Amino acid sequence: MRQPVWQSLSLLQRASSHYRVPIGRRAIQTASSRIPNFAFAFDIDGVLLRSSKPIPGAADSLALLKKQGIPFILLTNGGGKHETERVAEISDKLQVPLDPSVIVQSHSPFAELVKGVDEASSLENKCVLVVGGDGDNCRRVAEQYGFKNVVTPGDIFTAYPSVWPFSKNFQDYYNTFSRPLPKPIDPTNPTKGLKFDAVFVFNDPRDWALDTQVIMDVLMSSQGVMGTLSGTNGRTDLPNHGYQQDGQPPLYFSNPDLWWAAAYPLPRLGQGGFREALEGVWAATTGGPSKGIELKKTVIGKPFQGTYEFAERQLLRNRAAAFGNDASLPPLQKVYMIGDNPESDIRGANSYRSDIGSSWHSILVRTGVYTGGEPAWTPKTITDNVQAAVEWALKSSKWT
Ligand SMILES: [Mg+2]
Repeated sequence: MRQPVWQSLSLLQRASSHYRVPIGRRAIQTASSRIPNFAFAFDIDGVLLRSSKPIPGAADSLALLKKQGIPFILLTNGGGKHETERVAEISDKLQVPLDPSVIVQSHSPFAELVKGVDEASSLENKCVLVVGGDGDNCRRVAEQYGFKNVVTPGDIFTAYPSVWPFSKNFQDYYNTFSRPLPKPIDPTNPTKGLKFDAVFVFNDPRDWALDTQVIMDVLMSSQGVMGTLSGTNGRTDLPNHGYQQDGQPPLYFSNPDLWWAAAYPLPRLGQGGFREALEGVWAATTGGPSKGIELKKTVIGKPFQGTYEFAERQLLRNRAAAFGNDASLPPLQKVYMIGDNPESDIRGANSYRSDIGSSWHSILVRTGVYTGGEPAWTPKTITDNVQAAVEWALKSSKWT
């Protein structure tokens, strides 16, 4: 499950600083002189909040950890807003002041790709397609991360409505945020035409059809130039039958969750649903897995290793900010991951292999996606809710 793009430790550390707001040594008030050798990672939806309403006991649990000086992060597959905005919202809903350094969203690691590992891999000044989210919120998040040239499918539709004629009913919506394209779509003049160097699915697409069409256009193009069709597509003498073998840009997905818990009585299709739909269109177009053709992409978010690595480093930075970073600091030995989704929270915590040797202990709660029965991925512990989980964990770590 390890994602090659995020394997480089230095890449992770450099990139996270794009949005990280440093906290002072005194940001976490310790009520005890003891320094805990454990920490917590909380999923948000279905654990702390359910359809924007606080889950009973959630606020008290976070307040208790703050008071006790026990580090925690909120590790969510959600997104669509900048980390500072997201954390302000959660603080407001739970009535617990929280620092932006505690949040890791599904797209947070994309910030690393602004600078990349070197100048050649930097996407800072390249043209990137950002898909998903309300209006162009995700474009603005990407810009806050440092990407300087961000285009949305809505920009393309507004400039060229024929790219997907069936979105004409949504033109009023696109008019509210679309911007002129940096370059025209001009397949006759590829060097001057609109060209993408990366495609990011930041958040749930609102217009699956337009977004599917535009992403397919990029994937089938030559060199990522809009309006072109690669001559290598379908060539059986090439790897992957020539698909994605002609300089097409990399495709990144955040948030692999197929389902999420919302106000509706049953879970709703999530961002992973969009990816599956796109994979289906890809397979129907290219021949797909039955012909040995894959959709090459990088997926981050829980349960993937790269996201947990990113989260653990964030926890370590927060510990250092709170307790200092000298050799006497006890190592972080255990992280309690509390989640409601066996497929993401539990699977990710169970599978994670820490470079620093910490162990992640999965705790499944019954206030979200999981309500009972045999979970698809077996947690170390099951509790009714987050408060019971925190109480259990503190007892288990002999923290009284
Ligand atoms: Mg959840």
